[in-house]
Amino acid sequence: MIHVVYNGGMAGLFVDDRPVAGYARVAVEQGVDVAGEGLTYAVPTGMEGVAIGARVAVPLGRGNKPASGYVVGLRAAEDGPGGGLEPARVKAVLSVDRDGLALPEGLIELAKWVAGYYACPLGMVFASVLPGGVKRGAGLAKRKVVRLTGGDTRDDALREAGVRVTKQVRAVLTTLGGADDDEVELGALLTAAGVRSAGPVERLAEAGVVSIETRVDLRAGLDVAAERVAARLSDRPTPSADQAAAVARIGDALRAFGVHLLRGVTGSGKTEVYLRLIERLLTETERGAIVLVPEIALTPQTVGRFVARLGQAGDGGASGGVAVLHSGLTPAQRHAQWQRVRRGEARVVVGARSAVFAPMRDVGLIVVDEEHESSYKQDQLPRYHARDVAIKRGQMAGAAVVLGSATPSLESWHHAKSGRYGLVELPHRVPGLNVPRVEVVDLVEERRAQRGIHLISQRLEHELRTTLDKGKQSLVLLNRRGFASWVACPDHRCGWQMSCERCDAMMVFHLRRGVSTTSENGRDVPRGYVRCHHCEAQRMLEQHCPVCGKRTTLFGLGTQRVETELAQKLRGARVERMDRDTMTRPGDYERVLGRFEAGEIDVLLGTQMIAKGLDFPGVRLVGVISADTAIHLPDFRAAERTFQLVSQVAGRAGRGGEPGVVIVQSFDPTVDAIARAVAGDYAGFAEAELATRAEAGLPPWRRMARVVLRDKDQAACHRRAAATADAVQSAIDREAAQQQATMRGPMACAMARLADHHREQVVLLADDAGTLQRVLTSARNHDRLVSDAHTAIDVDPVALL
Ligand code: ADP
Ligand code: ZN
Ligand code: ZN
Repeated sequence: MIHVVYNGGMAGLFVDDRPVAGYARVAVEQGVDVAGEGLTYAVPTGMEGVAIGARVAVPLGRGNKPASGYVVGLRAAEDGPGGGLEPARVKAVLSVDRDGLALPEGLIELAKWVAGYYACPLGMVFASVLPGGVKRGAGLAKRKVVRLTGGDTRDDALREAGVRVTKQVRAVLTTLGGADDDEVELGALLTAAGVRSAGPVERLAEAGVVSIETRVDLRAGLDVAAERVAARLSDRPTPSADQAAAVARIGDALRAFGVHLLRGVTGSGKTEVYLRLIERLLTETERGAIVLVPEIALTPQTVGRFVARLGQAGDGGASGGVAVLHSGLTPAQRHAQWQRVRRGEARVVVGARSAVFAPMRDVGLIVVDEEHESSYKQDQLPRYHARDVAIKRGQMAGAAVVLGSATPSLESWHHAKSGRYGLVELPHRVPGLNVPRVEVVDLVEERRAQRGIHLISQRLEHELRTTLDKGKQSLVLLNRRGFASWVACPDHRCGWQMSCERCDAMMVFHLRRGVSTTSENGRDVPRGYVRCHHCEAQRMLEQHCPVCGKRTTLFGLGTQRVETELAQKLRGARVERMDRDTMTRPGDYERVLGRFEAGEIDVLLGTQMIAKGLDFPGVRLVGVISADTAIHLPDFRAAERTFQLVSQVAGRAGRGGEPGVVIVQSFDPTVDAIARAVAGDYAGFAEAELATRAEAGLPPWRRMARVVLRDKDQAACHRRAAATADAVQSAIDREAAQQQATMRGPMACAMARLADHHREQVVLLADDAGTLQRVLTSARNHDRLVSDAHTAIDVDPVALL
């Protein structure tokens, strides 16, 4: 039991009969700490290593269950525990972790900011900062080593120290004395001394004549799959004039905090700019670089380029190589990579979202590649945006931050245009890459011209064939998986549609693997099942309308339907489909890309998976089956996403010297986002969209926070939403922020029911981040508005369904 005795005076405080050396605030991972500042514990004298960033074990709750956490603050013993706590009630830190999990102080400050800004308990931020494999010590092999301390080992002295001098005790001491090395592994020692149990060694340790230490070795292959480093990725091209100018401009600002938006059209060689900046950083300073890439599994090429140029961790070299941090590694590999960064052995980290928390001590440059990607936002606690955390980390560390994209988020573009960020542009493709020719096909006209439903227009079919005949490759994008997006009664007066029983969503029809059609009355009838894309519930297809009994019809499109049509229209072509249904095992994605690169696939068809940073010179044609899939979603970023997706996939064409061709099919090609993406007019799109947002009072002009309440019981959900709205409105009033902040709601979410839960939301909009924070903090302190099982607070949300 832990008890603290207080007797006043200088030597006054004791914990467990040991004097108190000071107090530590500890962020405990269980997230019990609502205020977000950590819980207070006493540090007994003699417990070394308790510093900010140390990982410690502390007793938690009534049962004093040991829990781990990080030290986030320290106080001197004379100053007392603080926070109005009575010293006698403060428990003691149990132990300090020595497995090398201490974090740099700068990272502790960053975690505190994340907890405050994203309204998340501090302990949960640490749970996210520390990869699971690291926490569990994956790949760690512990061994005990024994050495002589130099104490008196003569029989008398031993007896005096309370050791019964047996034959075994002697044998242990003789073996240790005669060993070649200072220390001997415990197991080896016992064998050599002919002793069965560790008892004699332990008794000698108690007497202080030998020491037993635990050594931890990290054994994990550092070979991170080599990330398919092709030879052409490792050469060092001469920078174009644009690239050289970008490197010079950002490079001269490397020694201080600043955000630089690098807008470069697809194929303008942004990666080369990052690489040269990193090379400059490594030679001119002692500092390190963090490179964030979205969904690393989808960007093996980018990672490969970094590894090829800067070496892999463990190779040696000036940078100590690149450490790679992502979920595709085994926990042990991840742990090994993480430790290399923490120990300062690798000065470059390439990783996905959570690598923004890499335990690098001195960060000089942070690159966020494809900064517009929504995967940088974590959709569970802590709901942080890695790009924004990167900017904060850069500010705290005095590091340069480079945001790169061909289609920057309107947030970043807005800041660049208003002068808060530097703007560096690469308006041309690198020498040797041509700008692809982009054409539009109006699907409404196409439907009139062609009889029956065709997802592939005659124009696209023609180009697919031409590309095939030339021995070149095609990419075909449709950002919707399955075969048909809904099932309904063909009779409009009936109007029945097959929806999910648990969600406000249509069931999507999927073909079965293998046999996918049967012949009925001479026509092919697809065979399959229906699935909800929100809760993944799966059911049998309703063959007949349950209301009027008519035979149901399949509507809408999906990648499987395109695949079927490609097989009919492009006989003999080698087609491969890439979506979440076909990419089910780790390594699937890389395998298919490897085959595509080797020319074993003619047409690669897929969802947005194929739109990301792929760089294959063999691709002549890019076809977009329907640019409209996301445009009508009830989300104010629908237009922005559509513009980005079409522009990004178009940028995959024509990377091999020969001019590429892009065909964009759309039911509504006059929609601004589609027309401007086709014209390659980012600036025009951004200007128009920013004006629309300004009029509606939406981000990036204002800041948004959203609180989603969910409950299986609709009335309970509504009660919670109403209480939340009250809490937010009273916080606005308390802070006298009526002019700068507005609340909307409570109202049903666009997806009002999800996986059997009703969902309502309260939306807070404020003129600036400071006001948003003030209001949220006030609601948190006054009405305990915090994220829990029923409540999700999302600051700067990117998904609004
Ligand atoms: P982005 O990311 O801007 O779309 P990448 O960085 O993928 O462009 O570069 C496109 C291709 O051009 C890559 O294969 C890259 O190796 C090559 N490249 C980059 N810079 C140059 C250059 N200065 N000269 C020739 N090729 C280059
Ligand atoms: Zn569902
Ligand atoms: Zn019907």
